[in-house]
Amino acid sequence: MIMTGIIAILYLKIWESFILIMGPCLVMIILFPYFQNNPEIVLINQINLFIYDIVLWFFALGLFKIRLKTMLLDHDLILKNQELEYLVKTDSMTNLYNHQAILDFLSEEMQRSERNEQALSIILLDIDDFKRINDQFGHQVGDEVLISLSKIIKHSLRSIDRVGRYGGEEFLILLPNTNLNAGRLYALRLQSLIRNYKLPNEENLTLSGGLAEYTGESIDELIKQADQLLYRAKKSGKDQIISQ
Ligand code: GH3
Ligand code: MG
Ligand code: MG
Repeated sequence: MIMTGIIAILYLKIWESFILIMGPCLVMIILFPYFQNNPEIVLINQINLFIYDIVLWFFALGLFKIRLKTMLLDHDLILKNQELEYLVKTDSMTNLYNHQAILDFLSEEMQRSERNEQALSIILLDIDDFKRINDQFGHQVGDEVLISLSKIIKHSLRSIDRVGRYGGEEFLILLPNTNLNAGRLYALRLQSLIRNYKLPNEENLTLSGGLAEYTGESIDELIKQADQLLYRAKKSGKDQIISQ
């Protein structure tokens, strides 16, 4: 009976559930005198039945309210957790993944690459002469450049790729299912997209980068390779992405 009450309250409007539970009770109360001749027994049973049904309805309603409250709290908690996870993983200025988050994703992608025997490439990027950009146009413009560049990089990626702000003006891009040749093509496309972006004095913003393919080394070694290639790109005139 209690289960029926709860189900009724879950799926019906409150007044509908009231009718559903109280209806049969009223029918029994009305029909009772036809099966029982003793008026005292009839009255006692009618009162019992009525009280029992009223109590049942309130009990079912109470249980439903508790369940509803728990469901709402659970939902609220899930939303709060999602919000917290986003904050923990995100760089607040650029909305890209932060240093730790992108490294965690890299570690996951390295495992996936080994498991599925699929290529994985990474690019470590660094804005050229960013200190001069800050000095020339101010720190605020420097921030805007970082935000705009982040958007350009994000839009240049496929849904399976990821980008994080690795450091101040350094970005780490993960390109799953991408070998060096495909990585080089992507690097060229990214550079041509960035050429459309102009600094306040109409100068081009340029980037240097190192492109490395994962071949079973540790995460530190892979990053080190990309960093060394980036260093070579800087040494040989900047505005280029060098691969292994
Ligand atoms: P290079 O071409 O060799 O990379 O030279 P660079 O000037 O870009 O590199 P350097 O490491 O000398 O300077 C990096 C600058 O980036 C210095 C720092 O103030 C600036 N920077 C780092 N984070 C931020 C930021 O969040 N906002 C702004 N506006 N500037 C930042
Ligand atoms: Mg740097
Ligand atoms: Mg730089």
